[in-house]
Amino acid sequence: MSCCYLEPITVRTIAELMPAEYVIVGAGLAGILASRSLLRAGKKVVLLEASEQVGGRMATIRLQPPDGREIVWDMGAQFFTAREPRFERIVQDWLKEQLIVEWSRGFATADGSYYADGHPRYRGIPDMAALPKRLAQELDINLQEEVVSISPAVSGWQLTTKNGQIYFAEKVMLTLPVGQSIALLQAGSLALPPQVHKALAPISYEPCIALLLLLESFGHFPEPGGLWPVGEPIVWMADNYRKGVSPTPGAITIHAGPEFSAQHWRTADEDVAEMLAAAAAEWLRDEVELYQVHRWLHSKPVWIHPESYLALQEPAPMVFAGDAFAGPRVEGAALSGLAAADWLLEITPESS
Ligand SMILES: Cc1cc2nc3c(=O)[nH]c(=O)nc-3n(C[C@H](O)[C@H](O)[C@H](O)COP(=O)(O)OP(=O)(O)OC[C@H]3O[C@@H](n4cnc5c(N)ncnc54)[C@H](O)[C@@H]3O)c2cc1C
Repeated sequence: MSCCYLEPITVRTIAELMPAEYVIVGAGLAGILASRSLLRAGKKVVLLEASEQVGGRMATIRLQPPDGREIVWDMGAQFFTAREPRFERIVQDWLKEQLIVEWSRGFATADGSYYADGHPRYRGIPDMAALPKRLAQELDINLQEEVVSISPAVSGWQLTTKNGQIYFAEKVMLTLPVGQSIALLQAGSLALPPQVHKALAPISYEPCIALLLLLESFGHFPEPGGLWPVGEPIVWMADNYRKGVSPTPGAITIHAGPEFSAQHWRTADEDVAEMLAAAAAEWLRDEVELYQVHRWLHSKPVWIHPESYLALQEPAPMVFAGDAFAGPRVEGAALSGLAAADWLLEITPESS
């Protein structure tokens, strides 16, 4: 008797048969604070994050070699400030909850002298990535879910991920780099209204190459462990031990400036490490035990949208948010996420 086999078919899972009311793309600080705000208002929110962890550019690397050491580097955002009253209130709460601590009120300058401008700089406890991680604890987050296209659906949006999952949402917030948000909509065959496209298209980001070094000893960093050099090729250096982040001494973060980063984007790690370590030699004066190079393609937006978010009502509610809207820093990301969540709540009737 002959047997016939069915050709295997590709089955794409529909992650939520019922549409979520809100889907937020990107679990950086903007997406996390927006989700918390909606959740507190009693809304159901699903957060989709491409990477394995939350926090986006508030990122920390931790190494635990077999010899028992723990080496920690903050490799993205190094600290944050609070300028606006709304964020200042949030920061005061985080201080009370011991999520953050004041690191300093200034840093060393190129000649090694301490320049204090009086503004508190905060860091997460124990490191920068810990803050978004703890804030995200209560949220419904799907990690490793990279959204690849967004298209209009019946009463809302359809989001498709690289894993083949499909999510439906009545309202969507996008907190990823703006060019990538536009690309997701183009992949879903949605032409943005010309005035929206015109407002979003100029937003671009500068690259940053981060070099993480482990010195054999303490290095020669001035207190409080952060240093503002004069400019290219290095715009920032930090000693994560003196900062209080790394239990092991000698864990140094170096951020190259945008010119160096663009010029050496494709240069081999080894050469990048050698050039930056040579430029920083005065502060290192020590053997390098190991190094790692990380490339941030979208480190900071260089053109900021004048409003804290940009919203679309048609074909369904969608809001663009993140640090390209309220300022190229942690505070801007936070305020943009919150303002975008406020807008979503305003357009949602109480009963829904
Ligand atoms: C090297 C460096 C140094 C910095 N230093 C400072 C500093 O000292 N002080 C300061 O205030 N700010 C600093 N910043 C800026 C600060 O980190 C950012 O402004 C802030 O963290 C941005 O938060 P966000 O939520 O807007 O975006 P992000 O943190 O970038 O979050 C966006 C998230 O979207 C996810 N994502 C992207 N594409 C997709 C997709 N297709 N599907 C699903 N998820 C996706 C990403 O993985 C990411 O988690 C620095 C940034 C860098 C890179």
